[in-house]
Amino acid sequence: MTARTCRTAIALASVVGLTSCAQSGRVTIVSSSASAPATTTSTTIATDTTVTPTTSAPVSEFVDEFRLGDVVDLGSPRTPTDDDGLVAAAVADISSWSAEVLGSVFDLPQSVLNGEIYAGRPERTTSLPGCGSPSTDYSDLVEYVALYCPVDEFVIYDDGPDGLLGSLVAEHGGTSIAVVLAHEFGHFIQDRAGILDLDLPTVTTEQQADCFAGAWMGRVTSGASPMLTLGGDGVRTGLIALVQVRDPAGVDTMSPGGHGTAFDRVGAYQLGFEEGAAACATLIDDPLPLMPNAYLSYDDYLRGGDASYDCAGEPNPDCRASWEFLGDDLNEFWTLILGDTIDLAALPVDNLEGVCPDFRAVDGPIGRCPSSGLVVFDEPEILDLYSSSGDFTLGYLLGLAWADAVLGRQGSSAATDRLRADCLVGAWVDDITLGLRRDQRRISTVASSPGDPDEAITMLIRLSDPGDEMLFDRVGAFRAGVLSGRTAC
Ligand SMILES: [Zn+2]
Repeated sequence: MTARTCRTAIALASVVGLTSCAQSGRVTIVSSSASAPATTTSTTIATDTTVTPTTSAPVSEFVDEFRLGDVVDLGSPRTPTDDDGLVAAAVADISSWSAEVLGSVFDLPQSVLNGEIYAGRPERTTSLPGCGSPSTDYSDLVEYVALYCPVDEFVIYDDGPDGLLGSLVAEHGGTSIAVVLAHEFGHFIQDRAGILDLDLPTVTTEQQADCFAGAWMGRVTSGASPMLTLGGDGVRTGLIALVQVRDPAGVDTMSPGGHGTAFDRVGAYQLGFEEGAAACATLIDDPLPLMPNAYLSYDDYLRGGDASYDCAGEPNPDCRASWEFLGDDLNEFWTLILGDTIDLAALPVDNLEGVCPDFRAVDGPIGRCPSSGLVVFDEPEILDLYSSSGDFTLGYLLGLAWADAVLGRQGSSAATDRLRADCLVGAWVDDITLGLRRDQRRISTVASSPGDPDEAITMLIRLSDPGDEMLFDRVGAFRAGVLSGRTAC
């Protein structure tokens, strides 16, 4: 986020270019990953690696009749893992589901992948097939996370422990691999349906593949799969995986190889989850709106889209702390909407406990003292979030506290009406992002930066527990507010 009164001189590591789907001649490798964690120097990766500190809850059930080696080419000997059974059932289910989609949605013969599914690992001694080249190097696979090759209809995924997918599996189990494979099978569906031949922008086909992944997740959480059932943790894992593989801030979504922001990817996944694969088919002619992701100023680029937290070391005497200018903006935003003064003040504290007699928690590290109009936040925790996941983690929490105050005037609260609260936060983000519905009386210059809406979604996920059944709805409410403004709330 930016405020014109606050210019920082912090030069961050350069924002890297996107490592996109490789293309050579007629060969197209369709990848899940936007960038290579191992080679990326952007500070956005710090966001990636800290999205989910929680551990997964075993809420999945699957038929135990498949061995992973029966459905995946594992190559050289490999030590089995606890996730193998779930992944094997998922592979079997995704394969039969994709065949069903070909028939039911595209009126094509119901058939499965001609090629194999390969698990790539650094120590694998049998080579991985190449897509237009003799073989695929493991170092390239780590960049892609997974890929689908339309030439020979095969899928390869990173089965190693050290890549992005390995870290997701370590924290969230085999569901991470399942979601990634569902996305790749989305490309298989596109291939058979002729969609990959349409020369569409990458982001359009990626959006649809994310939608297909959501459609598959909807199938397995609704109990429609005969092979496995996933609970709320499966949904959450899918969201986390999509947040992790988003385009870094600053990458124009429509640039060649652009895959979309987390905001975009989560939206497509949600559409498939809620409405099924037939709705995904409509995305080619009617794609979802995309969140702008290019820096609009060199200054914002230099700051990586993050405002100075507290102006420490800031040469500009007019610099104001992040919570101060965001609080002023929220006061102006809500005062104009309500036609009645909203005058809250944010205050960092060392500990929320006992901070005021009438303290009420809002969520996580933020709460309010209604009688004094103070919004208090746990500064040590916020500093950690701010540095690891971007400035709009605080922006989201402040938006939520102000929404709680607004709802309080109506006899409600963020705790009792969380979906509306998240939608109201989204309405504010809409105002400071595109500003298409902006009140002409607004004088504040606060504006969001590329990555800010993604940081809000990161915060939403961080505040949820594994198995949180409401997470998807809350992300959806936030997105609705951003996309449609306050009338959506
Ligand atoms: Zn893809």
